[in-house]
Amino acid sequence: MLNIERFKKDHINVTDLAMQIWCEKQLELSIMNPQEATESMKIGRSVHLVLEKAVSIPVNIKATNRKEQLYKSIFTAYYRIKVLKDRGIGSVREIPIYAIIDDLVIAGKIDQLSFFNNELVIVEDKTKSTEIFNSMLNDGRIAAYLNRDTYQLNIYRYMIDSLKRIDGESFMNNLESKLRLSSLSVRERFIEDINRIDPRIDSIKQLFKEFINELNEIRFSDRMSIRYIDRNDSESVLERYDVIYRRDRIEDKLRSLLEYWKTDREAKGVSENEAWKCKSCIFYRRAICNITPLKRNDLYGSSR
Ligand code: SF4
Repeated sequence: MLNIERFKKDHINVTDLAMQIWCEKQLELSIMNPQEATESMKIGRSVHLVLEKAVSIPVNIKATNRKEQLYKSIFTAYYRIKVLKDRGIGSVREIPIYAIIDDLVIAGKIDQLSFFNNELVIVEDKTKSTEIFNSMLNDGRIAAYLNRDTYQLNIYRYMIDSLKRIDGESFMNNLESKLRLSSLSVRERFIEDINRIDPRIDSIKQLFKEFINELNEIRFSDRMSIRYIDRNDSESVLERYDVIYRRDRIEDKLRSLLEYWKTDREAKGVSENEAWKCKSCIFYRRAICNITPLKRNDLYGSSR
């Protein structure tokens, strides 16, 4: 059985792919052993909420089933990008994005799009305490985090590129079918609510048409940003890194990441020189991972 079927998933999240880059085995074990959100994850989410409120463009539409939720997400992305383009200045946050790559649905949410030099710049925010961030800088672990986050940004940019070239109607049908939404219906009231916000849209077909047009009319910068934000102060940016879009590299990387989902191959763990990742991994501490490169003694050592 293919991994995507084994895990009963109808789509893959960009955050799944990012975790896979960090450690594929960790991703697999986290799907098989769902964990409650940690304190640091909760703090990270609340920082993102504060940032979102600061530049919020609310989309107040009620969705009553999964199909309407999908279309609400797509309308939200379309509308936020359009408002930003019309303003020609500032930022919007939390932009949902879907793409079909190698016949698999990929879903994600871009943290921020900012208008700069007539282009949209994709920004990804990571939250860390100052102390942890400084220790990452001092011992060089920052390189592994940046590697993961650089790929994450490149995946978003690649998804946008892939949407620019599609036929909206066939993409919509394909998406519905892969997400098993074809049998669900969309209420007239839902379309009316969208139409009230944007009178140009009077059907789902029109929504896709306008969305793809919008993506094609605006330039997305090849330069993107990763911001490390102080988790105790959402206004304090600890560091900002520029990332350049490398389409050739991300294509190869995506192919190898998606190969895991499309086959029944075993998940790979980290290499010997990345064994330090295991020491902060919950599946190492709980002795669940059987392929950690750490020695057996380390498994039950002082860091437990
Ligand atoms: S213990 Fe190491 S190899 Fe195993 S899942 Fe965690 S990070 Fe990956």
